[in-house]
Amino acid sequence: MKKYDLIVVGGGLTGVAAAVAAARQGISVLLVERNGCLGGAMSNSFVYPFMKHSLKDKDKNITRVLSAGIFGEMVERHKEMGGTDIGWQPEIFKIMLDEMITEANVDVFFHTQLADVQVENRELKSVLLAGKEGLFEVEADFFIDASGDGDLMAYAGCDYQLGREEDNLCQPMTTCFRMSNIDNDAFYKDLPRLLELYKQKQASGEITNPRENILRFTGIGKDICHFNTTRVIKHNPTDTAELSKAEIIARKQVLEMYNFLRENSESCKNATLISVATEIGVRESRKLKGVHVLTADELKNSVDFEDSIALGNYDIDIHNPSGTGTYIYKFEPEQYYRIPYRSLLPKETDNLLVAGRCLSATHEAHSAVRIMPICACLGEAAGIAAAEAIKTNTNAHTVNISAVQDKITANGGEIH
Ligand SMILES: Cc1cc2nc3c(=O)[nH]c(=O)nc-3n(C[C@H](O)[C@H](O)[C@H](O)COP(=O)(O)OP(=O)(O)OC[C@H]3O[C@@H](n4cnc5c(N)ncnc54)[C@H](O)[C@@H]3O)c2cc1C
Repeated sequence: MKKYDLIVVGGGLTGVAAAVAAARQGISVLLVERNGCLGGAMSNSFVYPFMKHSLKDKDKNITRVLSAGIFGEMVERHKEMGGTDIGWQPEIFKIMLDEMITEANVDVFFHTQLADVQVENRELKSVLLAGKEGLFEVEADFFIDASGDGDLMAYAGCDYQLGREEDNLCQPMTTCFRMSNIDNDAFYKDLPRLLELYKQKQASGEITNPRENILRFTGIGKDICHFNTTRVIKHNPTDTAELSKAEIIARKQVLEMYNFLRENSESCKNATLISVATEIGVRESRKLKGVHVLTADELKNSVDFEDSIALGNYDIDIHNPSGTGTYIYKFEPEQYYRIPYRSLLPKETDNLLVAGRCLSATHEAHSAVRIMPICACLGEAAGIAAAEAIKTNTNAHTVNISAVQDKITANGGEIH
């Protein structure tokens, strides 16, 4: 059986940053991804744009980028490869991630799904993978769960919270889509009128989408509009049957919105539905109940964790898990929060870290720290910690955190 130092499950921004950071420390790394490309929700679910991850420092009159390090490198390389300063090109980003992984000598298995894991005495030993050849096993000394849904930690028997604490309902799922040949300026001017009409049609049942407004973004190309506006509630993203139903419900909402806009706004009358994400976007599912469960109060109070590994200032942003409405709590303009290493650390195992969307946080805190720039930084920290543990013969609980922090900051990352 083939053996690696580290196996990372999930090739989203978390998994890529983890794999690259670890491989750059000289250890052997396998990255396992069930789809055919890297980027995770950005690539498979068309999530766009990168949410706020910098703040203005008035005293120094500068902008401080809170999510830097490997994430900052990704952004720069995307621009150099033909992405632009003003817009962004996710397809180029995706190809750039292939380059980063290849340069770092990470082995990647695409079209390969985690199916199971062997655990003995708090140690993960191997993973069972389902690839084109069928089931096969690969061993490693250390593992990182960057699957978004926390598949690896759940299969390994770690404690987790599905959705919100009171009823396990998760934030709604959304299938993003893009329309071309839209006069975006006219469309934006027309939005208040369209929104009134949308609400009337919602009330009459002609529109089935429970979302309160039409959430859309430009910046992705001339005359193209990106929509993040479908909403599927009360479906469990970790239940195959419910997830499958959610895909169909969301695509029906896409068609509904496309026809609504084409029929009711001059700005969209000649629009084409150019792309619908191949996978519904999952905002929230399993979250580790780790050594530390990050809370909204800790974010609001900007708690200075000794083992801080990443920063953020994105809003607490909860799309209603049970219907219409979105709750937003904005941090003060110069305020930011920290995320501790212990929120990636399961209680039950010694050689596993859980990074990105499936980290250990309450429903509320999670809604802020789940954004892509922060996930990438958490991945980088997990990758560095895994390599440090392997090289110093320590484990996920005993690894020297200040050595990990030094390596994050040496690579341009921000932790305090
Ligand atoms: C609709 C929607 C809108 C959002 N809007 C924004 C936004 O505007 N800006 C922003 O910054 N963030 C946004 N987010 C949040 C953000 O996209 C995610 O939280 C983030 O991408 C999570 O990154 P990740 O790497 O942890 O997980 P993911 O990006 O989900 O990556 C996980 C990867 O693991 C793979 N995988 C999963 N299970 C397995 C398995 N068993 N075996 C093998 N591979 C597996 C998946 O295919 C995927 O590639 C949004 C999310 C959604 C759903």
